[in-house]
Amino acid sequence: MIKLVAFDWNGTLLADTLPSIQAENSLMKELGVNKKITLREYQNYFCIPINEYFKALGFSEKFFAQNSTTIFNGFYKYYEPLEKKCRTRGGTKQILAWLNKSQVAAVIYSNHFSDHIKKQTARLKISGHFAEILGRPLNDDSHMRSRGKIALLKNCIKKRGLRKEEVITLGDTEEEIDIGKSLGIITVAITGGYNSETRLKKRHPDFLIHNMLELKKIVKKLNYK
Ligand SMILES: [Mg+2]
Repeated sequence: MIKLVAFDWNGTLLADTLPSIQAENSLMKELGVNKKITLREYQNYFCIPINEYFKALGFSEKFFAQNSTTIFNGFYKYYEPLEKKCRTRGGTKQILAWLNKSQVAAVIYSNHFSDHIKKQTARLKISGHFAEILGRPLNDDSHMRSRGKIALLKNCIKKRGLRKEEVITLGDTEEEIDIGKSLGIITVAITGGYNSETRLKKRHPDFLIHNMLELKKIVKKLNYK
């Protein structure tokens, strides 16, 4: 019986893929780099940690090290005004309401700042659907060089005393599939976010969906096995 769905935030619940690319391109200008990242490149290369993403884009480790403060601050400077205008991805509000009605808890676990996510979920009127919103503390830049959000989900599952087969992770990148596999929980990947469908497929998630509403069928199927 599924008791918890742990959602990623950026690109999964929040439709912010294009605004993120726009912010990245403003950052490139600030860095004095003559580069315009396309949607295709972003989906092919975006990853956490950010230093690996920059390496995939063709930047040297030295460039990243020398500019890491500008990269960290600059991205948020350009992203935040755009973030305020983002909507949820299609089907999000319906699926959250359905999970609540079905007594399946929903949480967010993210590489983004938890305070920012809370602000946005309040603006989008979806806060009430989440049992917990887990992210980084403000100004924490650990995602620049390491992946850390597995610990957020691991603790959450432990605290709730859930079994592996009772938990789904749903995200738009390889990272959530990797996390789900290493925790032994059910992995659902959604296309149309920060990573390409090809990349997601290569990680072999248990389910690959194109629309949030497809989650309903998955939960029903797993519950009636
Ligand atoms: Mg994401």
